[in-house]
Amino acid sequence: SIPLSFFGGIGCASTKGILVKGSNYLEALASAKYIVFDKTGTLTKGVFEVTHIDPVGNYDSQQLLYYAAHVEMASSHPISLSLQKAYGQTLNRDVVHNIEEIAGHGIRGTVQGHEVYAGNEKLMHKIGIEINGHHPEGTVVYMAIDHQYAGCIVISDVVKATSQVAIKSLKDQGIKETIMLTGDSNQVAQKVAKEIGIDRVYSELLPADKVEKVEDILQNKGEKEKVAFVGDGINDAPVLSRVDIGIAMGALGSDAAIEAADIVLMDDDPAKISLAMKISLKTLRIVK
Ligand code: ADP
Ligand code: MG
Repeated sequence: SIPLSFFGGIGCASTKGILVKGSNYLEALASAKYIVFDKTGTLTKGVFEVTHIDPVGNYDSQQLLYYAAHVEMASSHPISLSLQKAYGQTLNRDVVHNIEEIAGHGIRGTVQGHEVYAGNEKLMHKIGIEINGHHPEGTVVYMAIDHQYAGCIVISDVVKATSQVAIKSLKDQGIKETIMLTGDSNQVAQKVAKEIGIDRVYSELLPADKVEKVEDILQNKGEKEKVAFVGDGINDAPVLSRVDIGIAMGALGSDAAIEAADIVLMDDDPAKISLAMKISLKTLRIVK
């Protein structure tokens, strides 16, 4: 039987916007020693601003944004929402066809009869497009139109106000290591990690690489040590179900992530993770 105070713990958590799907997860959280974070939308706001547009060939900046915003119409990735916002004009769904999201890479589709690819360097490499030494700093969305390199759009995200404090208090609560996984560039990943005090960083990962990194961490931990993962959802479901405690950011998160998670944070605040730990440690002290 489940000790009564676990219900108290789950109830207390729920009043703080932390939904715990079972007492076993609250108990496991008290033994968490490694907390693995997704970057975009989890530690950063996931709200990108366009900082620079660098079209090549016959395109101008507004045309490049037109193609980017339209090809991204069907996606709910934070990058896609930002590009639609930067375009700023009404989007015409009728000109967009055959959209396909390519996880960890970007997106492709037909816009007004032109084949458009938008995504990272990996995507350009995959389709055999030469980016001609274009390597601006930051998160870069490269564009290919009709199989020609068409330029890039540089976007920039900011860390959430509470990320740094959350990382610090998790360390104070006995977390051995905080780890960040991201599909973004190494340069951006290192900058964010340094800014908020993350111990270990892996960048330029595909969704499958993230699962592999988590497997590594699970294999190298002590027997009684638990591993938690915190993600905002897009492509995170496989990792969420693999770890001891899967935590989803619920407000921005996808349905698949909320389903796969053991704990859901209703308001996407990283500080809620250390609060959940505090509740779990307190609940366990009452039980024991
Ligand atoms: P993360 O949440 O770690 O950023 P994702 O797997 O969601 O990881 O994305 C990894 C990278 O793939 C992004 O940084 C971006 O370069 C590219 N990407 C993914 N989806 C899109 C998209 N819809 N449009 C443009 N680029 C994308
Ligand atoms: Mg993500």
